[in-house]
Amino acid sequence: MTVTLITGANKGIGYETAKQLIASGHTVYVGARDAERGEKAAATLGARFVQLDVTDDASVNGALATIGAAEGRLDVLVHNAGVLGDGDLDGPKALRVFDTNAVGIVRVTEAALPLLRASANPTVVTVSSSAGSFWAVNNPERVESTLPLTLYSASKAAATMLTVQYAKAHPGIRFNAVEPGPTATDMTAAFGIGRSPEESARVVVRLATLGADGPTGTLQDEDGVLPW
Ligand code: NAP
Repeated sequence: MTVTLITGANKGIGYETAKQLIASGHTVYVGARDAERGEKAAATLGARFVQLDVTDDASVNGALATIGAAEGRLDVLVHNAGVLGDGDLDGPKALRVFDTNAVGIVRVTEAALPLLRASANPTVVTVSSSAGSFWAVNNPERVESTLPLTLYSASKAAATMLTVQYAKAHPGIRFNAVEPGPTATDMTAAFGIGRSPEESARVVVRLATLGADGPTGTLQDEDGVLPW
């Protein structure tokens, strides 16, 4: 049985990724910062729940300790939790967005590394964004070049770079970042855009189910590797 942890899995793309991985036989831990929302989602999905706020060291360490005690390893980690942080900019908002979208990846990865090393085929997927790609935001033919998402784009650039650097530092573990595609979730509700979370979750699932000979250190969307 493949043991999988997904952060921010109580709704949106994370929830649908959990659903699809459970259908393919994974034991999925739904990480959610709010216990009520997380427990409800896990019960509906047939998943396990761990309280996990990616901005809180004690919460992250507690979640990974729970999985370690129950499973002794972690095969797949999906960094999905994220916030948009649009609107007016100030220091506290910038800290919150970077803490969630970038620093949270460091917290969860570091806490998970001992359990990932215990897996025969460890895989880490970062749900990043092409809004954090220099190539996309400077390409007039791409929608990313029109989005005024300063903190989101900068923090997702950091998320993708963290993925590449972790891939270099840990050759025995695959680390890949993914752009899931524009998706209609609570995050994008104000823009009224996007396809269903089910469709975008398929892109995440593809990277989460790579074989041991799969790529590492890439940013991909549904068409393959993206320049960034
Ligand atoms: P969503 O429906 O708003 O889901 C975001 C999830 O992240 C929620 O479960 C949320 O929990 C959780 N979260 C936020 N802060 C957290 C924290 N500190 N600790 C733990 N969980 C936290 O948005 P989504 O569209 O599914 O986004 C999922 C991922 O896809 C994000 O990383 C996003 O940047 C990325 N993405 C989305 C799109 C798109 O078009 N939607 C495109 C590219 C990339 P709460 O319910 O407690 O708030």
